[in-house]
Amino acid sequence: MAGQEDLFKKIISHSKEYGFIYPSSEIYDGLSAVYDYGVYGVELKNNIKQYWWKAMTQMHENIVGIDSAIFMHPKIWKASGHVDAFNDPLIDNKDSKNRYRADQLVEGYMEKLEEKANKEVKKAAKRFGEDFDEAMYRETNPRVVRYTEQKNEIAGRLASLLTEGDLEGLKALIEELEIACPASGSRNWTDVRQFNLMFSTQLGVIGGEESKLYLRPETAQGIFVNFLNVQKTSRQKLPFGIAQIGKAFRNEIVARQFIFRMREFEQMEMQFFVPPGTEMEWYDYWKVERMKWHKALGTPEDKLRFHDHDNLAHYANAAVDVEFEFPFGFRELEGIHSRTDFDLRQHQELSGKKLMYFDPERNESYIPFVVETSIGCDRMFLSVLSQAYTEEAVSDGKGGSSERTVLKIPAPLAPVKCAILPLVKNKEELTEKAKTIFNNLKFAFACQYDDKDAIGRRYRRQDAIGTPYCVTVDFESLDDQCVTIRERDSLIQERVPISEVEGIIAKRVDMRTLLNS
Ligand code: ATP
Repeated sequence: MAGQEDLFKKIISHSKEYGFIYPSSEIYDGLSAVYDYGVYGVELKNNIKQYWWKAMTQMHENIVGIDSAIFMHPKIWKASGHVDAFNDPLIDNKDSKNRYRADQLVEGYMEKLEEKANKEVKKAAKRFGEDFDEAMYRETNPRVVRYTEQKNEIAGRLASLLTEGDLEGLKALIEELEIACPASGSRNWTDVRQFNLMFSTQLGVIGGEESKLYLRPETAQGIFVNFLNVQKTSRQKLPFGIAQIGKAFRNEIVARQFIFRMREFEQMEMQFFVPPGTEMEWYDYWKVERMKWHKALGTPEDKLRFHDHDNLAHYANAAVDVEFEFPFGFRELEGIHSRTDFDLRQHQELSGKKLMYFDPERNESYIPFVVETSIGCDRMFLSVLSQAYTEEAVSDGKGGSSERTVLKIPAPLAPVKCAILPLVKNKEELTEKAKTIFNNLKFAFACQYDDKDAIGRRYRRQDAIGTPYCVTVDFESLDDQCVTIRERDSLIQERVPISEVEGIIAKRVDMRTLLNS
């Protein structure tokens, strides 16, 4: 685990040093859990959004997009249940004065049990070598069975306490498990209280409840309240979906782990409207589709998994998370929820406006059911970054080797696709030729021209920001009109005619390679 923590720290400092992510308001000592995207960060983030947007809208004739406002009528949050129920259970340690999410303290305890079981399995795998049957061992080894049973039992109890909103029971569970504050080591806890995660502000100059507004905690409600507008103007028939990318705000009790849990973040959400009774079919469909989207990035199978919710939100009849193995363990990256007709029905009731759909095939009007896919853009960014970050030794071609840090970002998502490098900078013929190539290529994709420092250092700089291709212009180029393309991960160098460079690179960085897999 220490190795992974170390890796996470390296990713954070690399992000800052190479212009991916800066702490917000840094010269004023920062603002907790708020971050700014830097020069390469914004490009990577935009590419992730584009990959999602194209996969949703361009690749599905029956999904259209919108961009709704962050401010919405306050009644929307009453109808959606957020005013009354968008709470997290809060607990304070009286000695350290640290504040925690009570459910996360219990989850932390469960994670330790899982770690203990995994440790036993790992030890046994080493002992038995090739003959090791992991599934059998997990089922029969008394210690592993005990840890797993204990964990499952606690998960069940936690889920029902959360569903029932039993705060006293939650505190009793923390006491029973003898969970101590990680900071003070003490078990001197306050009672558990509910804490609403919505930020509020005020519209206009007159204060008071009347003009109270919320910063949206999810983008989905902007889709629900526009459901009929979109359906009519796009002339879509059910089933159809509405996609949206936008900011969301949550006053998280404990915001940490870099951009994993922020107070201002971005969501990519799609609500798929279906006839009642067909929602489970579509729920299964979207589980498969979304996993495909993640795996197209080349993420290894064992880094992604589904995790069914034990504790369903007030609006859902089925819910699953796509979890990714971040450097700090498996965590939710995306949620897929069957939201029933809860939201549309609530809005219909509170607004007094009909939100029904006339189904010509069934010859009846009804409120559609909804299957939602919801992914945090920032969490996706962190998963791409942690998957990409690599430290490795590379041969110097003279029998020795040197270390490099390289971001192996999938080429279509890379912030800069191609760097054009004259072999040396003080030869005008070379720099001019390189600049001409750059000035042509920049119309096709994001390029950089760089002639500072030795070529080796320039390669390292491009590796560090994840540029998949470097085009080197050397003296021979002046005669043979060819250049060398160096590929970031394999380090293979190909000699190609200048006239073919654009075509070769364009094909490899095309988002089609992801969308089509
Ligand atoms: P968690 O259990 O981690 O708090 P959640 O279940 O509340 O997440 P959802 O309400 O399902 O999350 O939100 C959908 C997606 O939005 C999540 O899968 C996640 O990727 C992203 N997300 C939610 N909260 C945050 C946050 N505070 N910072 C960054 N991304 C977030």
